Amino acid sequence: MPSRKFVGAHVSASGGVFNAVTNAVAIGAKAFALFTKNQRQWNAKPLDAETIDKFKKALAESGILPRHILPHDSYLINLGHPEDEAREKSMEAFLDEVQRCELLGLDRLNFHPGSHLKKISEEACLSKIAEAMNFTLDKTSGVSLVLENTAGQGSNLGWRFEHLAQIIDKIEDKSRVGVCIDTCHMFTAGYDIRTKEAYDRTWAEFEKVVGFKYLMGMHINDSKPDLGSHVDRHHSLGQGKIGLDAFKFIMNDDRMNNIPLILETIDETLWSEEIKLLYSFEN
Ligand SMILES: [Zn+2]
Ligand SMILES: [Zn+2]
Repeated sequence: MPSRKFVGAHVSASGGVFNAVTNAVAIGAKAFALFTKNQRQWNAKPLDAETIDKFKKALAESGILPRHILPHDSYLINLGHPEDEAREKSMEAFLDEVQRCELLGLDRLNFHPGSHLKKISEEACLSKIAEAMNFTLDKTSGVSLVLENTAGQGSNLGWRFEHLAQIIDKIEDKSRVGVCIDTCHMFTAGYDIRTKEAYDRTWAEFEKVVGFKYLMGMHINDSKPDLGSHVDRHHSLGQGKIGLDAFKFIMNDDRMNNIPLILETIDETLWSEEIKLLYSFEN
């Protein structure tokens, strides 16, 4: 039986989004993530027809399906920003990100929920995030908004499963909202997955609070910091504090079938080996 796991990495799109496809194929990926614009700048030139066409052609040749691609938005965006002007700038940039996905024929966009910057309550911040998502969903079609769990570094929300659930609860069109679970963030947020027992307990908690029906992608990273440290530092698989067992459990867990499983590990020269390693874990 062919594998139902779709493993890849967050590859470079430098020189044009179509290069991400080539970079993914080169490392043996069956899925990938990319930035559709420079992630550290507010403005980007619009995607032109030729670029879109080249991306779609490359994708068709690669055999990778749009549902196995998990674009990531800019790090500058904070939909929960406590100040109106800054939040509006974020909402504008976020809408542009979703529209870029629409143009490329992609069906999901991965983003970090937002930060309260210690100026408003968690509750108020989560409401702002949900409102911004509803606004964006209203103006677009065909793209799901995929909330990523965070490590809870600084004032970043989304590290507790309850944060994700509270946002989803406020979304009007629940057919277009999902979550992406990053294993490093999950671990440093305090959710252990190192032993089978801990793994089962953590995912049972996820099912109870959020629900697997919302799981639209995962980031597969080992962690430099310890369990519950709330520090976001990825490591290569097997070299960090999580260890390889957790990734073996994932590769044999049917609940992670047919979604993009994306490496964001720190040494990209290891990606093709890490992809092979993950597939070798399948029973
Ligand atoms: Zn992320
Ligand atoms: Zn991530």
